[in-house]
Amino acid sequence: MTCLKPENARPGAGEDGRDFNPFAAMQPRRPEEAPQGLRNGGRVKQANVPPTGTYLPNNNILTPHMRSPEYVQLSTAAAITLGIMPGKMHRCGCTRCLNLLLTYPEGCRANCAYCGLARHREAERDYADRNFIRVDWPAVPMEQIAATVGADPENSPFHRMCISMITHPRSDDDTRTVLKTWTDHVDPDAIPISILSNPTTMTREDVETLKDMGSDIFTVALDAATPEIFDRTRGRGVQSPHKWSKYWDILMDARDIFGPKKFGAHIIVGMGETEREILTLVQQLVDLGGHSHMFCFFPEKGSLMDHLPATPRDQWRRVQLARYLIDYCGVRVGQMRFDEEGRVTDFGLPAGELDAIIDAGIAFRTSGCPGKFAEDISACDRPYGDSPPSNIASYPFQPQAPDLRLIRKQLGKERADDPYVEDEELEITSTPAE
Ligand code: SF4
Repeated sequence: MTCLKPENARPGAGEDGRDFNPFAAMQPRRPEEAPQGLRNGGRVKQANVPPTGTYLPNNNILTPHMRSPEYVQLSTAAAITLGIMPGKMHRCGCTRCLNLLLTYPEGCRANCAYCGLARHREAERDYADRNFIRVDWPAVPMEQIAATVGADPENSPFHRMCISMITHPRSDDDTRTVLKTWTDHVDPDAIPISILSNPTTMTREDVETLKDMGSDIFTVALDAATPEIFDRTRGRGVQSPHKWSKYWDILMDARDIFGPKKFGAHIIVGMGETEREILTLVQQLVDLGGHSHMFCFFPEKGSLMDHLPATPRDQWRRVQLARYLIDYCGVRVGQMRFDEEGRVTDFGLPAGELDAIIDAGIAFRTSGCPGKFAEDISACDRPYGDSPPSNIASYPFQPQAPDLRLIRKQLGKERADDPYVEDEELEITSTPAE
């Protein structure tokens, strides 16, 4: 697998030269139902090929019948870090987060428009072969993963482990079993645990149980920044079961049960919300005591939004920087200024202070649950999960001087005495030190 493959969705200015994705331009396609025999993992269950250990997706063999809790999928970055897959990641030595995903032949029963795992793909691709945040997810026995990391957790490259639940009737029970398998081998104090939840099937008691079993942080993937975008991309608009109100109910349960700084929400930037709307949500989460974990919209191949433009870098950088200021620097959205399109025009800080924060570069790294380096440096580095490496949205490493010159140009804050030179960052191949 290479992450430098050609991309058909390089972000630039939107239609009419716009530097943001407006609501009207971000309408998903309508999902089509798969033929009866191909629904619910019919092809895999009928062939019923027994699994024989690690399964690499799209490998020209029949997809085996694999199920959680015995099997989980893990990101390509985690598989490379564990030595399960060969490969190198552009400017990254490893990933710091072991992202696990529950797996079933029936797959996720939701139909989120931006997601490669969505149900409408049943006819086209078996669940274990579907791309998700731009990469393949190999399937591996959970016991093998836990035993491998558990052999020396103190010296593991992983700073955190995260279980991603999906929408499936078994996912609550199986998340508990996967968690138990992990904690039987790995002390949660050595490698903290995060849960990326599926509120649609969960109760408050489920949230309590996951905390009692050793989880450190609980997150809710709101993904959409407004109720309208939520309904259009994850609810009735695409025949998907999710409800904005249920997601907020579980988020509030997580706030009560996990406590301050131990809960958060995922939000995708550029699906039609304004910058003012998304930053108001970021402020709301901070005021509740939580964090926001941000992703740049990228048109995932095979998804119902794969024909739509990736988020222009101008919009993304403004929101990335403003979100960092609200989450970690005590700036409030009320101090910021916006234009008539809801774009940030003033970040609410004196120029000198803002310059120092831009030059520190952390604001432009991936955001997510923290690792062992610093509170504001995410363990969840998701290398190239929201962009190609040739036009990085979320940096999975500390941005270097050429990266920062590009970021400044994208923000409209290029320095006259230190201008960006076209493609200079592509000359760098080494991994920056932490
Ligand atoms: S619930 Fe999660 S995994 Fe399932 S389709 Fe929606 S975003 Fe994808």
